[in-house]
Amino acid sequence: MNQDIQIELSGIEKHYGAYHALKNINLTIPKGQFVALVGPSGCGKSTLLRSLAGLERITGGTMKIAGDVMNDVPPRMRDIAMVFQSYALYPHMTVEQNLTYSLRMRKVPKPEAKRKAEEVAAIAGLSGLLDRYPRQLSGGQRQRVAMGRAIIRNPKAFLFDEPLSNLDAALRVSMRKEIRALHDRLHATSVYVTHDQIEAMTMADHVVVMRDGIIEQQGKPLDLYDRPANKFVGGFIGSPAMNFVPAVVGEDGRSLVLDFGTVKQTIASGHQLQPGLKVTAGLRPEHLGITGQGQGTFDVPVAFVESTGSSTFVATATTPELTIVQTGRSGAHAGETIGVTVDPAHLHLFDETSGVRL
Ligand code: ADP
Repeated sequence: MNQDIQIELSGIEKHYGAYHALKNINLTIPKGQFVALVGPSGCGKSTLLRSLAGLERITGGTMKIAGDVMNDVPPRMRDIAMVFQSYALYPHMTVEQNLTYSLRMRKVPKPEAKRKAEEVAAIAGLSGLLDRYPRQLSGGQRQRVAMGRAIIRNPKAFLFDEPLSNLDAALRVSMRKEIRALHDRLHATSVYVTHDQIEAMTMADHVVVMRDGIIEQQGKPLDLYDRPANKFVGGFIGSPAMNFVPAVVGEDGRSLVLDFGTVKQTIASGHQLQPGLKVTAGLRPEHLGITGQGQGTFDVPVAFVESTGSSTFVATATTPELTIVQTGRSGAHAGETIGVTVDPAHLHLFDETSGVRL
């Protein structure tokens, strides 16, 4: 990958009146990278994207695109393209007119605009559809027109604002593959906002997890999954969500006493820690195993079992509850006692108070 820096955000701040929406955002995006901004609703991801586009004015920090400071540059001079949800197409214009709108605004000669429309239609999978109106297209085709409209401008970066959120689940899965495949062909620097961590994990080279206006962690998708920097990221990345159990480090410093209210369970932690230290243990559902009673790390009663065919979700009758995911079918039944196996190599430990990874 070309490591030239395309977007550089240093110390970005955004206040809406008294509300502090972005706090000291630092993010460097190499040319050609696909970055996902992900986090719960209200964390500031759209504000950050809109600030990049120039639709919001930042109140502090420096924003550079291709080496140039953009803080005071108006949106249309930034040479970046925003891809919205597909309904942002002009309904009274054909696909070709939608695609070439920005070219016509810039007075590009008609034959050249037509040639570019055909070229982009081929790239975006719209050949043969140039004379149709948006209402005559499927949801996926409309989304391709929305992307084609961005591609035709050959921008310095593509900004995607939850582009798939109004599509049905099956179409979302196929469109996310298409967008990623398009990215692999064009190598355009892309910033993609989503609240869906699966979308972020599967599409992006680099994932930025935000909460309450700050970046909690950024990195390669699987690095975030393997080594979440704190309890929030541990709980946010991964589905179903990581189980959290309050625990205390045992007297030997190597064991961990899990606190299920009246029941305590001692497990090996795989860490040497200060005896008596209070921690939160993070156990991913897919990293817990099920065996017969008395054969696992500890025994638990089963509350309920749900099967989707491809996998089975077992919930324990403990406080806190544990979710265990098994591939395929499970022999576990509600009401029985099972043995749970815990592999210390897959145990995540967080400071009880700060939530920071230990
Ligand atoms: P996200 O995209 O992560 O859901 P947003 O960036 O839209 O979050 O919003 C971040 C926070 O800033 C929210 O609490 C939101 O209410 C607030 N906010 C967004 N736009 C405005 C605005 N124009 N005026 C005041 N507050 C705003």
